[in-house]
Amino acid sequence: MSTYIFGHTNPDSDSIVGAISLTYLKNQLGEDCIAARQGDISPETEFILNRFGGTLPELKTSYAGENVYLVDFSDLAQAPKDIKDSTILGIVDHHKLGDITTNTPLECWIRPIGCSNTVIKEMYDYHKVAIPKDIAGMMMCAILSDTVIFKSPTCTKVDTKAVKELSEICGVEDYKALAMEMFIAKSAVDGASARNLNTRDYKAFNMNGTKVGIGQLEMVDISVLESRINELFEDMKLMKQEDSLHTIIILLTDIMKEGSQLLVISDDLSKVENAFGIKIQNNQAWLDGLLSRKKQVIPFLQPQF
Ligand code: MG
Ligand code: MG
Ligand code: MG
Repeated sequence: MSTYIFGHTNPDSDSIVGAISLTYLKNQLGEDCIAARQGDISPETEFILNRFGGTLPELKTSYAGENVYLVDFSDLAQAPKDIKDSTILGIVDHHKLGDITTNTPLECWIRPIGCSNTVIKEMYDYHKVAIPKDIAGMMMCAILSDTVIFKSPTCTKVDTKAVKELSEICGVEDYKALAMEMFIAKSAVDGASARNLNTRDYKAFNMNGTKVGIGQLEMVDISVLESRINELFEDMKLMKQEDSLHTIIILLTDIMKEGSQLLVISDDLSKVENAFGIKIQNNQAWLDGLLSRKKQVIPFLQPQF
C-alpha cells in the first residue's frame, strides 16, 4: 500500500514542494510514497513548478484508511476532514504543535526554523541521500518564499545555509534575483476574485475553542490592492458567516516596506487590539515590521481567547 504525503489546506509552496521533496526522499529510502495536495496551487507555486519542471502532486482530499505523512502543519483545522481515519506515519513541520494526535508511534521532525523544506533538507543530509537538481531548485524557492528572502523573523542560519547549498546543487547562483521574480509572480492580482485573494494563503485556527481565520497576501507592493479593499472586506464578512468565525483577519504584507496592513472583521475587535497593542480604525491598522503569521500573529492572538 502506498503512503500519501501532503501539506495543509490552501497549500502554499512549502506544502506542495514539501510533498514532492519528502516523497522523493522516502522513495529513495525504500518506502512507496505518493505526493499529494489538498487543494489548488497558487501563482507562486505554479512559477516554481514551471521553472524547475516539477510535477504537480495529485489532488486528494479524503484519506480514510490510508497511511500518510503530513508536511508543514499539525493542526486539525488544516487537515483533511477524515484525517482521524488515516494512520499518520510522520509529521515534518516548522509551526507550533497543533491538535493532531495519533494512535500509533510516529516519526516527527518538527523544528523552529524558517521552512519545512529546510527540515527536509536536514533529513536528506541525515540519510545521506543526494537531492536531484530540480527538487533542490524547488526546495530552495520554498525556503526563500517562507522566509521572505531571509527577511522574516522565522529565518534562521539553518535556512540560509540550506539555500546556499541548494543553490549550488540546482545551479542558480543569483537566487535572490530568482526569488524576486517569484514574489512578482506571487503578487499577481489582476483578474483574481476577492475570494481568491482572501484564501490564497488562508488558515483556520481553533484558538482554545474559538474559530479564527487568518489569511496573508505577501506582495512586492500592496498599494495595487488599495482600490479593492472594500471588496476584500465584503468577502471577509461572507467567509466569517460561512465558517462561523469569531474573527477573520487578512494581512496585506508588503515585503519591500516590511510590514503588514491588517484587515479585520471580528465579534470583538478589542481582542485584536490587545493582541498587538494597537488601535484599529475602520477595521484596519498598519503593523510595521510584521511579516510572519506564525511568529508575530498567532502567539499574540491565541492567548486572547
Ligand atoms: Mg505553509
Ligand atoms: Mg512552511
Ligand atoms: Mg508563508
